[in-house]
Amino acid sequence: MLDVNLIRNDFPVLSREVNGRPLIYLDNSATTELPEPVFEVIKEQLHKYEANVHRGIHTLSEESTERMEHAREQMREFLGAKAPEEIIFTSGTTDSINKLARSLSFGILKPGDEVITTQMEHHANLIPWQEACKRTGATLKVIPIDEKGDLNMEAFEKALTEKTKLVAVTWVSNVTGAVNPVEKMIRMAHEKGTWVMIDGAQAVRHSRINLTELDADFFVLSGHKMMGPTGTGVLYGKREILNTLPPDTFGGGMVDVVTDYSATYGELPHRLEAGTPNIVGNIGLGAAAEYLLHLGVDNVVLQEESLCSYICGALNDLLQIKLVGNPCRRAGCISFNIEGAHCYDVARLLDQLGIAVRSGHHCAEPLLTAFGLDGAVRVSPAFYNTQEEADAFIEAVKRITKVLQKKVTR
Ligand code: PMP
Repeated sequence: MLDVNLIRNDFPVLSREVNGRPLIYLDNSATTELPEPVFEVIKEQLHKYEANVHRGIHTLSEESTERMEHAREQMREFLGAKAPEEIIFTSGTTDSINKLARSLSFGILKPGDEVITTQMEHHANLIPWQEACKRTGATLKVIPIDEKGDLNMEAFEKALTEKTKLVAVTWVSNVTGAVNPVEKMIRMAHEKGTWVMIDGAQAVRHSRINLTELDADFFVLSGHKMMGPTGTGVLYGKREILNTLPPDTFGGGMVDVVTDYSATYGELPHRLEAGTPNIVGNIGLGAAAEYLLHLGVDNVVLQEESLCSYICGALNDLLQIKLVGNPCRRAGCISFNIEGAHCYDVARLLDQLGIAVRSGHHCAEPLLTAFGLDGAVRVSPAFYNTQEEADAFIEAVKRITKVLQKKVTR
């Protein structure tokens, strides 16, 4: 069990006020807050070590390189990858998916190939595949969801054929919190010889990840959704597959030999990391992974799950609240609407009470359209949220419902 009150001391932002009230931060699916150990390594890096990596022969450059490679090893451990070179640093999930989609567009995806994705994806795991298919002549297949917000597994099974080159699917929906049966999907895809990319942006804090056991071919995440800095992320790939991918970006740091008219490329991970990386950010990301490992990812998951199911149950009991989806397994977030009220009004009124939630289409328009909606309020607790905060949120929703319903009936 986590001592939440003790842990909250690690997160300075949690003690600030918003609109004259203590902040209740329930927008963790968008971005999580950073703990002191992450600030410490960032400050230390900038104060003592900042220099470019993999280039200089001088001490600072060597130390900086060592610290960034240590962060890669921390991420390897966090993800249960086999080797550090399977961890490619990127600027986030969007960057990771675009990088993979671009690389596959350089001669790997061909006319007649198929890419499967789903109706519940964040736009970051949809549009890059629309573009890659447009450019290569491959065909995109989007698997629908059912009325509960779960993936239609029959449709997935039907869509999966020997022509499928890649399945790109989110582990956890950033709107309904639906948890996809990715273990099963990976097994089914591998039987057809298909690669699978898991969008782990929402999954990283909601389950202990072991990519070696999961057997995903690719896995992507954002640092700012796992207590790390914004502008950081990872594209994981199995070493033997990454070695066959054409680099998607070219320049310094990724080459072997360069002449006037040609270049050969270096080894992993550098061949997929052209240019100066986000050194300080990557080091901060490594520290965030270590922080979560230190707390115990299982403890983090338990605390979040208990808050999430408590809030979900309490919202479900309120007559005027309509939840978006009712998936078989939920993690991390709940989206809802108050009957007759616009989601922006609800979020604005909650903000006046110091409560931060997200409202809108959550960059998942096809999913909201499937539910006949154009927006929803999303509440997403993290392990540093307390039971009292969950209760305050529910009370606030009840109050706002009364206020807004009075307006509607007047
Ligand atoms: N996929 C999912 C499931 C997400 O929740 C998000 C962020 N909301 C993204 C992709 C995109 O992440 P980023 O904006 O950090 O690149």
